Amino acid sequence: MGKPTGFMEYKREKPHEEPPKKRIKHFGEYGERFTDEQLKVQGARCMDCGTPFCHMGIEIRGVAAGCPIQNVIPEWNDLVYRGQWKDALDRLLMTNNFPEFTGRVCPAPCESSCTLAISEPAVAIKGIERSIIDKGFEEGWITPRIPKTRTGKKIAIVGSGPAGLTAADDLNQDGHQVTVFERDDRPGGLLMYGIPSMKLDKDVVLRRVHLLSQEGIQFIVNCEIGKDRTLDELKEEFDAVILCVGAQRQRVLHLPGDDADGIIPAMTYLSSTTKSLLDGEKKAPIDVKGKHVLVIGGGDTGADCVATALRQKCKSVVQFGKHPRLGNDRDNDHMWPADPGIFKMDYAYEEAEAVTGKDPREYLIQTKRIEKDASGKVTALHTIEMDKVMGEDGFHYFREIPGSERVWLADVVFVAIGFEGIDLEVTEGTDLELSSNRIRASRTSYATNLPGVFTAGDARRGQSLVVWAIKEGKEAAQKVNTYLVKEKVAI
Ligand SMILES: Cc1cc2nc3c(=O)[nH]c(=O)nc-3n(C[C@H](O)[C@H](O)[C@H](O)COP(=O)(O)OP(=O)(O)OC[C@H]3O[C@@H](n4cnc5c(N)ncnc54)[C@H](O)[C@@H]3O)c2cc1C
Ligand code: SF4
Repeated sequence: MGKPTGFMEYKREKPHEEPPKKRIKHFGEYGERFTDEQLKVQGARCMDCGTPFCHMGIEIRGVAAGCPIQNVIPEWNDLVYRGQWKDALDRLLMTNNFPEFTGRVCPAPCESSCTLAISEPAVAIKGIERSIIDKGFEEGWITPRIPKTRTGKKIAIVGSGPAGLTAADDLNQDGHQVTVFERDDRPGGLLMYGIPSMKLDKDVVLRRVHLLSQEGIQFIVNCEIGKDRTLDELKEEFDAVILCVGAQRQRVLHLPGDDADGIIPAMTYLSSTTKSLLDGEKKAPIDVKGKHVLVIGGGDTGADCVATALRQKCKSVVQFGKHPRLGNDRDNDHMWPADPGIFKMDYAYEEAEAVTGKDPREYLIQTKRIEKDASGKVTALHTIEMDKVMGEDGFHYFREIPGSERVWLADVVFVAIGFEGIDLEVTEGTDLELSSNRIRASRTSYATNLPGVFTAGDARRGQSLVVWAIKEGKEAAQKVNTYLVKEKVAI
């Protein structure tokens, strides 16, 4: 432990963020890394607890607590406090393939589980993680690690999101020849075409893809398995296949008027905006400048739509959520070290408040119908407010409040009400078994019902987080490696 009294002497700081009113003028990243001096001070706040819940990644009462990939946080906190940056980097990379992604976009369950968070603001773990890896790249310490020997085994990975990239990285380092197939025109999955560039600069994603290519991984883009090539062909050509296809099939509204022009799935908006920025187009295909924007769905995808609409200078933006506003304090269902489940101001809401003077979120709102004009264009949403009440059976229910009907002007409506499961193309003509719209595979084996075919990430667990996709990619890679070694022994 670097400084035993650090947690009493120093306050938690966030890495510098560009002020909301300035940053909404562009799509560049709004966050920076800690300076070296800040990094030391923030590292010194770690208490090096005997039982560091921050790195455990366990489930407590059904809720995940701590870092899912078991980053050995107290160790790198101590190393940065001592200024041993390179050692901190090596320690970080032992557990996390891509800290430059998690250090920018992870919701940091580690910080909820930090012991200091019981009574004080948690150690700034995520900011420290980002700073270690960013410094590593700046100093030129991250260089291609080209495997010295090759096993002769060939692996196909379908999907290049964080699960696919992690599995590809680990299996390539094991000496296997890895090919990644991606239906989009650029690799990265939701790192590329989901999470907006102000949170995660696309050059950061492409830098990693370039590194992986230099290390020997082959990327084939614009190739959809199930359409351009079949799963059966891959099984024939490769010794093992891992399906990391995500769970990007979006839920749709089933409401009167939902066929109106201007009702747009959130992912269509987010991905087309990023693509047009990357392609250098002057105007995005969906541009909400001067328009009244409504977002249906109170989650993070909806928040990203709010932030994107603000950058395009929308006239107004409101986000509807079905659930009540979270409280300011932990309740009994969210005791430490689990996620506190409390009210937060995401980056998008800070920005909306700075521009309009108001948090854009409306809680406990149910959309009842969509109004359109004679040309079929959306003009308004009709809503009703709800109550969340506990029934006699002990379960919570939503109840409409009579007389709370309201009409909201809308030029564009983004639908961000979650994801149903995998896109089904990859299953075309196969006997691949699904379960609740996800690919069926156990958490321990990652093996599907088809011999030699594995799955990991959102495709197996449903829409989740980058850090869980990395964990699943790592564990699936281990299982595939064992499978290939066994196969070799059997031969
Ligand atoms: C808008 C949005 C914002 C998010 N923000 C955050 C965040 O801030 N922090 C966080 O931790 N998580 C966030 N998430 C969740 C996170 O991005 C996902 O959990 C994670 O990317 C899942 O990784 P994955 O590799 O399993 O799948 P994905 O990232 O979905 O990648 C799957 C890939 O497979 C490809 N594919 C699918 N079918 C085929 C096929 N048949 N042939 C070839 N390729 C195919 C897809 O094109 C895609 O590239 C966000 C999600 C969304 C939608
Ligand atoms: S990956 Fe996420 S949970 Fe793990 S240390 Fe980083 S920010 Fe925390």
